Amino acid sequence: MYEEGLDQLCDFLISAKSTMALTGAGISAESEIPTFRGVQGLWEKYDIMEYAHIDAFMSNPAKVWKMLMELDETITTARPNPAHDALAELEKMGLLHMVVTQNVDNLHQEAGSTQVVEFHGNSQKFRCIGCRSEFERSAVSLENIPPRCNCGGLIKPDVIFFGEAIPWAANLKAFEMAKQVDLIIVVGTSAVVAPASEIPVMAKQSGAKVVEINLEATVLTGRVSDVLIQGSAGEILPVVVERVKKRRQ
Ligand code: NAD
Repeated sequence: MYEEGLDQLCDFLISAKSTMALTGAGISAESEIPTFRGVQGLWEKYDIMEYAHIDAFMSNPAKVWKMLMELDETITTARPNPAHDALAELEKMGLLHMVVTQNVDNLHQEAGSTQVVEFHGNSQKFRCIGCRSEFERSAVSLENIPPRCNCGGLIKPDVIFFGEAIPWAANLKAFEMAKQVDLIIVVGTSAVVAPASEIPVMAKQSGAKVVEINLEATVLTGRVSDVLIQGSAGEILPVVVERVKKRRQ
């Protein structure tokens, strides 16, 4: 099954005119960033409603900032892994045209992908929720938590909390692409957080092949996805790159 799935993905990549990937926390698990769900998941430690909802941030920003600072340390020390590298390589080979990521860790860009749509923002940038000014991370002192803008507004990482809207441009770009592609590769996402989870559904309804790479079956498996390649993204994606290169020689 694993071998068959790999071959199918290589076939699809070679024949498709337009392709995209949708990635989630699982692609960064091998970069030592914990996923949201699962045994090592962040939400085993922190309750979502208490820490990741915008209402929680508004009612107790100092408490949420303490969790954010712990996550920040993990993210800033993380490096791209072979799965990020492989997607960047597929872009260079002209076989992958967009990565839509739910991750906020900047690792696709660090690996060299240039066509990245950040669906949930980027933790390396900060934003004032009062005047909406954007700050580089290094420009904001975290000595006093929560940090505040000159306008008096609260500053938060430029990421989307539960209860907040997806950045308009990212949402538009991702769904427009989903309607056009012949292939979407869905990597390391449990596909339960909407509206990102609707991107593969949109692609499927528009006629695309849907290939999942995940350690386990998800809500997409057998319903939306044509193929599940079950295993770690950091092992599977480099093999895909090598096989496609060989076939094109
Ligand atoms: P999730 O935690 O709900 O699901 C992760 C999925 O990845 C699971 O299905 C799991 O089986 C799979 N997985 C784990 N390790 C894998 C591996 N090595 N190879 C392949 N698959 C693997 O994550 P999600 O679906 O992305 O949704 C949750 C939200 O988490 C997103 O909104 C995202 O913004 C946020 N988040 C981001 C980061 C990050 O930026 N790195 C980290 C944690 C959470």
